[in-house]
Amino acid sequence: MLNRRPLEVMPRERAPRSGEARSCSQFTLCILHFALCILILAFAGCVHPPESAVAPPAAPPSEAEQPPAFPPPQPTPPMPPAPPALPPALPAIIVPPKLDRPPMLRVWLSDVSAAPEISCAGPCRVKVIPGDQEKRHAKLMAANAFLVPGGIRLGDAMYKCSSLEIEAEPGGQVRVAGRGYSGTIRLLRSTDRVTVIVVLDVERYLLNVVGGEMPADWPAEALKAQAVAARTLAIFDHLQRAAFEYDLTSTVEDQVYAAGKVKPSIAEAVADTTGVVLLHEGGLFPAFYHSTCGGETETPGEALGKPEYNFLEGVPCGFCTDSSHYQWRATLSAAELESKLRAAGFTVGAITAVSVEGSDSRAERLVKLVWAGGRTLIPIVDFRRAVGQMVIQSGKFECRAEGGDFRFTGRGFGHGAGMCQYGARGMARAGRLYREILMHYYRNCAIGKLY
Ligand SMILES: [Zn+2]
Repeated sequence: MLNRRPLEVMPRERAPRSGEARSCSQFTLCILHFALCILILAFAGCVHPPESAVAPPAAPPSEAEQPPAFPPPQPTPPMPPAPPALPPALPAIIVPPKLDRPPMLRVWLSDVSAAPEISCAGPCRVKVIPGDQEKRHAKLMAANAFLVPGGIRLGDAMYKCSSLEIEAEPGGQVRVAGRGYSGTIRLLRSTDRVTVIVVLDVERYLLNVVGGEMPADWPAEALKAQAVAARTLAIFDHLQRAAFEYDLTSTVEDQVYAAGKVKPSIAEAVADTTGVVLLHEGGLFPAFYHSTCGGETETPGEALGKPEYNFLEGVPCGFCTDSSHYQWRATLSAAELESKLRAAGFTVGAITAVSVEGSDSRAERLVKLVWAGGRTLIPIVDFRRAVGQMVIQSGKFECRAEGGDFRFTGRGFGHGAGMCQYGARGMARAGRLYREILMHYYRNCAIGKLY
């Protein structure tokens, strides 16, 4: 889950800037030049193996121990567009309307400049939005959507519109980039791109979210707690972003959604909690969660700079000590730390000390950097994002300077607010029910059923 939003953001490989691209001949010359230098150095006996500036994790977690809020980076993760700027007047808590069925969510899948790969093995309907133009295709064979002046071309059909929807007939699936979707696929056209969105009800959405945020072989009561937290957050986003093109992205920016086969344990956890959400004073809120708290959770004000949600108090956990991320270490050279911070837009000189400020558990946690000529205070969320969230795994850390390096030791994995997922697993293993788990981590909240 996200940081613009509450949930955690995965570090991503930075895409090369266009200005960094070199021509083939320039590149070849560079390679030859580099090889020549290496040969000269080798003969002079000066070649040393490069040292990694960042120490590898002391004990890499096994696959089963991967923190659920942090699935490993995908080779080519879809990059959502810049998040929409939310108007400041949006309410922090939203009292839901009366619902008699699960709301339909709009989930961003991709944003492409040329041709999203779309196909349907069986009959499907294409409908122009808004309008009443509708066409039935017997099938779409690897039909690509192309931007054309005034519309979208889908296979051999041209639609004059800025938006259209593709829906498979019952039992069928529309495939986008190799994945099959049971919901409706919506294409939004802008001047230089096509945005692909899937529209589906929240219960169906959760089938492919809970398994992305928590391993399917974890105890049933932990999976149910996860389903309720994810449902609460999704419906809150749906209501808060009604004026935008989509409600959530499908990435860790919001909640990880990946269409595919659903494990029975996940389907049971979602079905057993159908319509169940967390409420504070009758309203929905973003039900933050994270991998491992490292001993105690924190207020959203402290962990995320969101004091409006400080009714979620920090609570002692004690159930996540078996997480491989309960403690962590990282080492960065001064040069690397400074370079990462500057790349993220912070002004720093030669850093001499790094510390975490803040004794008030309800105020935003800040990182203080002391450097030659000045000092800088950076919100913990921004510091982790700049240095790398897989490197600085949580906001609870100490740092000491040693021989030109900065050695970090910390506890936990993730922002630290709301439910500790490893703690939920521990509580479930200890026999606690999902409602008990939720009431432990979401103090001052109630559990309600929306539909
Ligand atoms: Zn914990």
